Amino acid sequence: MNDEMHIAAMTPVFPGSVDAAGRPATLGVLGGGQLGRMFVHAAQRLGYFTAVLEPDAQSPAGLVSHHHIQTDYDDPTGLAQLAELCQAITTEFENVPAQALQTLANTRPVAPGAAVVGIAQDRIEEKAHFVACADASGVTCAPYAVIQTPAQLQAVLDERTDLLPGILKTARLGYDGKGQVRVRTAEDLAAAWVELGGVACVLEKMLPLTAECSVLVGRGWDGQVVSFAPQRNVHVEGILAVTHAYEGNMPPALATRARDAAVAIAQQLGYVGVLCVEFFVVADGSAHGGLVVNEMAPRPHNSGHYTLDACDASQFDLQVHAMAGLPLPQPRQHSPAIMLNLLGEVWFDASGQRREPDWSAVLRLPGTHLHLYGKLDARAGRKMGHLTITGPDVAGVKAVARQAADLLGLPGLDVG
Ligand code: ATP
Ligand code: MG
Repeated sequence: MNDEMHIAAMTPVFPGSVDAAGRPATLGVLGGGQLGRMFVHAAQRLGYFTAVLEPDAQSPAGLVSHHHIQTDYDDPTGLAQLAELCQAITTEFENVPAQALQTLANTRPVAPGAAVVGIAQDRIEEKAHFVACADASGVTCAPYAVIQTPAQLQAVLDERTDLLPGILKTARLGYDGKGQVRVRTAEDLAAAWVELGGVACVLEKMLPLTAECSVLVGRGWDGQVVSFAPQRNVHVEGILAVTHAYEGNMPPALATRARDAAVAIAQQLGYVGVLCVEFFVVADGSAHGGLVVNEMAPRPHNSGHYTLDACDASQFDLQVHAMAGLPLPQPRQHSPAIMLNLLGEVWFDASGQRREPDWSAVLRLPGTHLHLYGKLDARAGRKMGHLTITGPDVAGVKAVARQAADLLGLPGLDVG
């Protein structure tokens, strides 16, 4: 695998160092969203210069980086510029063309590598990987079938009705619940495949979820592994709404299994960088032993944003350390935390009028940490920022989260 090639060759890129030509140590990222922005912040805090490749002139990461290369992700000139400026390169979203990562890897260490990003980009390959490492990880994914052709659709309609009711998901380019259709009957399934354009899909059995959680793992070029405890996630309409990060957020035995499974999955990939593995917790007595792996993201993840305020090293710190070949700190969480995602809806009142959220009231609450991503155009469903609440004890954090959610106009949210 491409990552393996670099293990021997990877010499650490030290922050603050200067090369023979007098150029400062610079880390690069493909993609200019909020994950790239928080990566840039972490890299700069350590003393690195940064470069962002992103076509959008007003991107969250481009706005705060030393260099902003404003080209498409697969533009050869842009990629050459990025490689020229940077001693190591990462990505902030998984739909970056894997070929772009491969091109960069010809001349620079790239973490995570094109091969593993390629697996995470495609649900069919991703699930095959989960199945292949089920013995090592102790978990498998939901029962599923691949539907890429009309013949495969027919075979599922004829022979795999055990997967209904289910969710038909496009193999590629889905996020935040997009590219998914819930199907109850064979007729629904046939119609949904047409609705999704007849592209490659997986049909997944609908499982009785009692909870969802995710685990962040950091792995270095030398194979060093560190991880965070699992965080419990609440989704609303397919988008992450709340993350609960404290001891007791889920049964301890499940938490241990999830953490071990995520580490095993990262190891089996020969992964370098930060990997997020998402899990379903299913009703007891099911065939899955209570834990099912859903998907993975080859980058820091929305569910790990609390680590910025509640841990002594964040998921973005790990991303920086891993790609640059620095030792990975084993993060220590010092405070219980709840994270509330701030979607565009928060900038509108019940009658649809644009408003400024009442930040003075929110920030008066103890232990609130506001992160906005520099996006000026609030739209429904758009991730504008997040609010993390930390405190000395879980009950207090929950109480403040409840108050903050009410102030922000998110009254129905499960913060308990
Ligand atoms: P992300 O933004 O995390 O990348 P996504 O669009 O890739 O999301 P999934 O994580 O596959 O989509 O699904 C979104 C949500 O839909 C899940 O978090 C879960 O709440 C629900 N869901 C997905 N698959 C199943 C399933 N097999 N059974 C029950 N619920 C499911
Ligand atoms: Mg998901």
